[in-house]
Amino acid sequence: MAKVLDSKIPAGPVPEKWKEYKAHQRLVNPKNKLKLDVIVVGTGLAGASAAASLGEMGFNVINLCIQDSPRRAHSIAAQGGINAAKNYQNDGDSVYRLFYDTVKGGDYRAREANVYRLAEVSNNIIDQCVAQGVPFAREYGGMLSNRSFGGAQVSRTFYAKGQTGQQLLLGAYSSLSAQVQAKKVKLYTRYEMEDVVIVDGRARGIIAKNLVTGKLERFSANAVVIATGGYGNTYFLSTNAMGCNCTAAVQCYRKGAYFANPSYVQIHPTCIPVHGDKQSKLTLMSESLRNDGRIWVPKKLEDAKALQAGTKQGWEIPEEDRDYYLERRYPAFGNLVPRDVASRAAKERCDKGYGVNNTGLAVFLDFSESINRLGLDVIMQRYGNLFEMYEEITDVFPGDVANEINGVKYYKPMMIYPAIHYTMGGIWVDYELQTTIPGLFAIGECNFSDHGANRLGASALMQGLADGYFVLPYTIQNYLADQAVWPKVPTDRPEFDEAEKKVDAELDRLLNIKGKRSVDSIHKELGHIMWEYVGMGRTAEGLKTGLKKMHELEKEFDTNLFVPGTKEGLNVELDKAIHLRDFFTMGQLVAFDALSRNESCGGHFREEYQTEEGEAKRDDENYFYVGCWEYKGKGNEPELIKEPLEYEAIKVQTRNYKN
Ligand SMILES: Cc1cc2nc3c(=O)[nH]c(=O)nc-3n(C[C@H](O)[C@H](O)[C@H](O)COP(=O)(O)OP(=O)(O)OC[C@H]3O[C@@H](n4cnc5c(N)ncnc54)[C@H](O)[C@@H]3O)c2cc1C
Repeated sequence: MAKVLDSKIPAGPVPEKWKEYKAHQRLVNPKNKLKLDVIVVGTGLAGASAAASLGEMGFNVINLCIQDSPRRAHSIAAQGGINAAKNYQNDGDSVYRLFYDTVKGGDYRAREANVYRLAEVSNNIIDQCVAQGVPFAREYGGMLSNRSFGGAQVSRTFYAKGQTGQQLLLGAYSSLSAQVQAKKVKLYTRYEMEDVVIVDGRARGIIAKNLVTGKLERFSANAVVIATGGYGNTYFLSTNAMGCNCTAAVQCYRKGAYFANPSYVQIHPTCIPVHGDKQSKLTLMSESLRNDGRIWVPKKLEDAKALQAGTKQGWEIPEEDRDYYLERRYPAFGNLVPRDVASRAAKERCDKGYGVNNTGLAVFLDFSESINRLGLDVIMQRYGNLFEMYEEITDVFPGDVANEINGVKYYKPMMIYPAIHYTMGGIWVDYELQTTIPGLFAIGECNFSDHGANRLGASALMQGLADGYFVLPYTIQNYLADQAVWPKVPTDRPEFDEAEKKVDAELDRLLNIKGKRSVDSIHKELGHIMWEYVGMGRTAEGLKTGLKKMHELEKEFDTNLFVPGTKEGLNVELDKAIHLRDFFTMGQLVAFDALSRNESCGGHFREEYQTEEGEAKRDDENYFYVGCWEYKGKGNEPELIKEPLEYEAIKVQTRNYKN
């Protein structure tokens, strides 16, 4: 019999669903809240906001993170901003328009009802953060300032210079700290969740490793929430923080949580190109730069060849010989097309030989026009720290005049190229953000969320904070309302014994392989396979080859890995080995999903399915569903379960950013 997924979407027209849900929602009696414990794993924007809110509401929260402080979660890397439909500058924005742009941006593969809710609560997030004192950029008159991000024709992105994630996290952290002080949140830093404990079919606790002592510890609670981020580091090189991993999510998947849409991986168009083979990290140049920077390559192949050979510089190429290819191909959105579209267009130009650096894998991002129009001061106010960061890494300052042609000043352009950045796929959740394991919830980047096949810029922070501040704290109560009568499960139950024993055995297994290869050398090789066969352009044949190579490399990992040190105390290599074990599971899952989806949509581009103009060609007749995967054991193909998508408010059509 076909497996059925209940997404628990309330009945009624789309704009009313969330109101309807809240109106009839079951809430935990205030007295009982004091008896209920919730584990929140993660202190990024999603985790910190959820832990703070649940603490504020009266639940007892256990909050864990792998860093030495919640303030060091990956979320602080977010530079560009956070979307909300405030319509402050009266440019025609609305909740509906944000909803529409997000669904269209996701190439009509998101769950419609969830996206409407996201757009609706977006405005509350800004109010909440302003109340916390987040220093958003302001206009001269005091009004919060906005800029534009890809896939939108209005300005709805709120920002704090190029440090929006950090400032938002400081806001969430102060709320969290207040709850720690009030003893409603107990914080465990430098702890890593290794497994979820299931008792009678429900998530009742976790096994976590104290990363400093190496000891395994047990935590029991009435519900478990994971907010552990995305799986971008499966590709080794990405814009993600080095510590980002998918161990918690993959372990939940192994225990029965379905994993949704893993092939929807976002490749960001504006990253500093790869240089050499010693890198372990790529740097993002924020999408906000596309507000004022223009992307181009030379029109003439001989100019491109000269740039690649280093005999010519970009600023020597006159205006008429420049191809502003995004403005040419997509006149309506220009440089602000969504990321998947911009990334593919850069790849197309470079594949044709028009790349502008020595590897031929770079395009220019040029501020000459905007600096000439607005002055360097204004541009520095907007992007100063990004210009400085670029200079620190490349030794080129994009505000330096390099040439003057016909009285027009030309500034040194940045060089950029697409890189792995964000993962739209994640643990499947229903409308209440509950996974297929009762009592286990997933929020933020680690769930499959609201972005469909492609996330629009500045929407990840919106979703993480929507989940954490405004959705989960309500929906989890529906589950907890029943749990109030059940006593908390003691940690000496056999389910905890068994889970801990298995984690411990895994640590021993990895330490005892005693082979010759370091974790990083194998991870780097996995990353090459992923980029080559499961990256920006995928084919059925390439995906099959990728899967074969991954299996072979996983065997190498299982037989020839070398992890120095012991289980006791701090052992970073051992922790990385656990992460790599799970990146293997994840990489294969991405490939399986990509292979099963015989269409192109958003970040998933199958070269066999494209239009004559090289745009993604969807197949709504056969693939209008969320692809959910059930784990079937190591080495076995997982099982695909489909959640059909239902659209009632938005007409499903081909994406158009041209006019
Ligand atoms: C360079 C860069 C710039 C970006 N800029 C923007 C932007 O401008 N706007 C935007 O909207 N989005 C942006 N994004 C995306 C956005 O930053 C992320 O999607 C978002 O911050 C994810 O938040 P999160 O809370 O879900 O996860 P994270 O911030 O990744 O936090 C994960 C948390 O889980 C913890 N954790 C992980 N595994 C475990 C485990 N096993 N046990 C215990 N704890 C664990 C970590 O310690 C951490 O606290 C950017 C991303 C990057 C890489």
